[in-house]
Parts: sequence; structure tokens; C-alpha cells
Amino acid sequence: MAESLPDFARLAAGAVSRRRVMEETHRFISVPSPTGEEAAFAAVFAETLSGLGLETSLDEEFAGSPSVIGRLKGTGGGPTLQLDGHTDTVPVPHDPPSVDFERDVVRGRGAADMKGGLAAICEAIRALEDAGVRPRGDLLVTAHGLHEAPLGDQRTIRSLLRRGVAGDAAVIAELGHDDIATASRGMSIYTIEVRRNGGSMHEVELKNRAANPINAVRLLLDALAARAEELAAQPAEASGPETLFVGEVRAGDFYNRVPTDAVIVGTRRYRAPMTREDVVEELEGLCAEVASKTGLTVGVELQEVGPAYALAHSEPVIAAVQASYHDVVGSELPLAAARAVGNAADFASYGVPAVYHGVNQETAHSDDEHVSGADLERAARVLAGSVVHFCGAEFDEGKR
Ligand SMILES: [Zn+2]
Repeated sequence: MAESLPDFARLAAGAVSRRRVMEETHRFISVPSPTGEEAAFAAVFAETLSGLGLETSLDEEFAGSPSVIGRLKGTGGGPTLQLDGHTDTVPVPHDPPSVDFERDVVRGRGAADMKGGLAAICEAIRALEDAGVRPRGDLLVTAHGLHEAPLGDQRTIRSLLRRGVAGDAAVIAELGHDDIATASRGMSIYTIEVRRNGGSMHEVELKNRAANPINAVRLLLDALAARAEELAAQPAEASGPETLFVGEVRAGDFYNRVPTDAVIVGTRRYRAPMTREDVVEELEGLCAEVASKTGLTVGVELQEVGPAYALAHSEPVIAAVQASYHDVVGSELPLAAARAVGNAADFASYGVPAVYHGVNQETAHSDDEHVSGADLERAARVLAGSVVHFCGAEFDEGKR
């Protein structure tokens, strides 16, 4: 009998056990892993993947924050799907972990963000195995630390991607549960610094009134505001508006002293195909103008938090997750823009289309972080079906 892909997807999704994925989430959050101290949990996660039959290794490039890499060979002839997540939690104290099957909830730091998502990945793989459904393409599971800011800076996942530890597409098991993000604004933090030659001086000693750094701040704020207005007037797009925001201004220390310097700090959010380099160019242009008007040195530095990306809506991974979601939930999974700057942007910058699907993260980082069993079950089922729809599948003959 020839089963269709939706049949295989339904079989695999149907083999998900809510109790099992709740227990596993509880087991995962019982091993603390604040950012920078992920080694113990990484070992537990690696052992779990090994137990599921994945060829598993720990990548020790970053001391204290090993990345877990697990591979499951497919039967051949399908693309490789990468299931990805971060192993660290915010370093914010929380009541001890608990699981309550009656109330259908797992509580504790990391339950929602994102050990529930990692447990859903494991449960999806377990369900495929239990249902006797073998993906044609390979599965690649990656889990990495150093994610949560300010200590986390994505160097772990970026290093894996740079070294080619990547699938043909990826599903990141967080940041999406009732829509599917296909685009995200990029975000950079800019710091503009104004400098005057010489030390502080009495106001009456300043010969060229334009050369007061506070005058440069005024010109810069006007120019930044004008640019922000232009951006606000752009036509709306799904990924959200481009913005230029000023959050800090620092200058001066005494009422009749001419300051030596001044600083303006803020954010610039931008849409693909704009890049970090384009933002640098934009702000450098603005600084050069103010420098020539004042005779002061005006420079800008940019720290990119995440690049902008936009996936083609025809990417197969989008259709795979949407089809699986429809099987499991019975309604459409609408396209959307990413809620936050997440790792899909890093994947995109290495040419790997990535989408998000995990548990509801409403309580992430909160004092009462929790996830429901129903949500864990849905995430695991959608992930299992997504594997089938993306990689293709056939029956494990030994299991029939
Ligand atoms: Zn997260």
C-alpha cells in the first residue's frame, strides 16, 4: 500500500505522547543552564539525542558552552532538515522546577524559553521512530549556548553555520507557535561620538561658537529626526516599519565649561535587503555633514544585534510547517514577521532558510515561567509532521 506524505505525517504526529514531552521538559529544566554555564545541560541533551539513535557530538569550541550536534541518517533521496534551539536560559532566579500532569503544566526557568522546544524536538524524533516512519532526508539537530543577551552574542550558532554545520533548511523551536515568520527587520545599535581638540575651557575662550560639541548634538538630533521622519513616511510592509531612534544623549559637565565631547546612542531598525554596511554609510554621511559644519570630529560605530532577512514565500520549509500545522491544529498557519530578533536572521545570513515553531513563550523570562502540556504536545506533533513534509518519508520495513 502506498501511503501519502500526509498519511506519514499524521502517523508520526499521532505517536506523540503529551506525558512524555512534559516529563522531558521537566527533566531538562531540572539541570540549570544560565547563559555561559550550559555544559551540564548540553551533556544531558547530547545523551538524550544519543538515546534516540542520533550520531551525537559535543562541539567544545567555546569553553563552558559546548554546542550539541546530532545527526540521524535518512533513507536517502530527501533534503536535510535542521532542528535548532538554544540551551541557555536567562540567569534570573526562579522557583524550583515542577510538573503537574493534572493541571497540565510544567513550571520553571527555561520551561517556555526554550527547553520545552528542545523537548518537543526530541519527542518529534521519538514519535517518528515509534510510528515506524523513516525520513528520506537526514535530520540535523543543533543546540547551542551563549544566546541570551547581554552575555549571549550568537557566536556559537554563527560558528556552526560558518563551518557548514547546517541543513538545507531549519526550524528553530521557539519564537513562533500560531504564525510563521518569513521576514524580520534587522537591528543595530549606533553610537555617534563628537570630539573637540583640546581640553575643557571657559565658555568665553571658545572663538568658533559652532565648535561646541553640544551644537553638533543639536545638528545631529535634527538630522536624525529628519531621517526618522523620512523612514516613517515609507509605505508599510509586513516586517514592520524602519526606524531611527535616539535613546541616550550625553554632553557637558558644568554650566560655563565647553565640553570636549558628546555621545548619542540609539537604534536603527531596517528591512532587507538593507544591511549593516548600508546603515554605517547612512549614518557616516550624516556625521560628515555635521563635522564639516562644526569643524569637530564626528564618528559613528555600529553594533549589529541581528541582520534583516526576508524569505521567499516559496521556500519548501514554510509549506512543510504550514501543512503539518494544518494537519495537527486544523487551521491555517498565517505568514508573519518575526516578533523578535532571533537566530533565523543568522541562518539567513549563511544562506539557510529558517522558520520558527515551538511552544507559546508568553511567560519567557518572567517570574512564573511555564508551558502547558497541550502546547508541548502540539509543538512536538507539528515538528514531527514538518520533518515528514520536508524530508519525505517511508515506512521502516523492519517495523511493519
Ligand atoms: Zn529563547
